[in-house]
Amino acid sequence: MARINQNFLKLPGGYLFPEIGRRVRAFSAENPPMPLIRLGIGDVTQPLAPVVVEAMRKAVEEMGRKETFRGYCEETCCAYDFLRFAIRDSYKALGVEVADDEIFVSDGAKSDCGNIGDIFGLDNVVAVCDPVYPVYVDTNAMAGRAGEYVDGKWTDLIYLPCTADNGFFPELPKGKVADLIYICSPNNPTGAAATKEQLKVWVDYANEHGSVILYDSAYEAFITEPGIPHSIFEVEGARECAIEFRSFSKTAGFTGTRCAYTIIPKDLKRDGASLNALWNRRQGTKFNGVPYVVQRGAEAVFTPEGQRQIKETIAYYLNNAKVIKQGLTDAGLTVYGGVNAPYIWARTPDGKDSWGFFDRLLHEACVVTTPGAGFGPSGEGYIRLTAFGDAQATREAVERIRKIL
Ligand SMILES: *Cc1c(COP(=O)(O)O)cnc(C)c1O
Repeated sequence: MARINQNFLKLPGGYLFPEIGRRVRAFSAENPPMPLIRLGIGDVTQPLAPVVVEAMRKAVEEMGRKETFRGYCEETCCAYDFLRFAIRDSYKALGVEVADDEIFVSDGAKSDCGNIGDIFGLDNVVAVCDPVYPVYVDTNAMAGRAGEYVDGKWTDLIYLPCTADNGFFPELPKGKVADLIYICSPNNPTGAAATKEQLKVWVDYANEHGSVILYDSAYEAFITEPGIPHSIFEVEGARECAIEFRSFSKTAGFTGTRCAYTIIPKDLKRDGASLNALWNRRQGTKFNGVPYVVQRGAEAVFTPEGQRQIKETIAYYLNNAKVIKQGLTDAGLTVYGGVNAPYIWARTPDGKDSWGFFDRLLHEACVVTTPGAGFGPSGEGYIRLTAFGDAQATREAVERIRKIL
């Protein structure tokens, strides 16, 4: 008889977004007085940049001709040189040297963050920020590294609280050593972005203890403040302890197109083995690469015109963020994020619980947000709003919230 992976039965079962969906549907069925505005889910809404569309159109035509047709990609790590070299050069512009065989192109940062656990032993102690992007937690739970789920927490994970008191950046753990450390900056959900000094503390810790930092910089393109690093490899010593995940999803509207990349330096070794080589072996076995058409679209993002076009879209979202932040601040809320990230993290008024405030905004303002408690225990007392919506609708949502507060 086949037996299942029992770890799956321990999962609390996609609570957050299904529960939001349930509450929104129930409210919609009561004929709300105004159309709903959704500032909840973290998906982009602006179309692909014209240069990306044009590059993909050309690539589709190549695929339709015998002379230019392409099958499996046989270049390094299932990615075409044209894309890996463009990625390498973009790092060079930051002053970071990344070799082209340290770049692994994939269909998503979610897949890479989730799959990276394959190359690590099950006995590693995992540390996650709290609140957190749920993928890091659930994938470790599925693998059996999280222990049991008791009272909203996994028994074997180290939770690193990120609160207003520590500027939403985790302090080093006391007690048990963290072997695998997930850091996301700019952060989903808090919108906070780490400084070089903050990251250096963790890089030093990881190098001292032989830990590995899994650095998710999916929102790197939203950084507006000078001095905030765009890559963890801008921090000295990171090549010996860090893996970096990047994505075209939020950067260039690829959430439905699918393309991302992961950097594993060849200097990064544990148990005498190169993590770059292990990941190459893993990807070579379980993955056959990203479609040629999509890789051509991703390449176009790095052209001067591509950069200009995606920056325009990012500025559009960041302007929404500003509108939300300003409007909620004017309404008397304490608001974080929204400067180097498309997320606004707002304190609920009068110590209200996050689901309670979510319900109030839904019922009285017809605005859908995300309750902070869904991202972990330290998210209680906050809600997340996203800047990925339509500018006009975002303004109206903020106006409605102001009226009811
Ligand atoms: C959106 C997001 C990603 C990107 O995931 P893709 O699979 O590349 O679309 C990665 N990390 C975080 C924290 C995100 O919010």
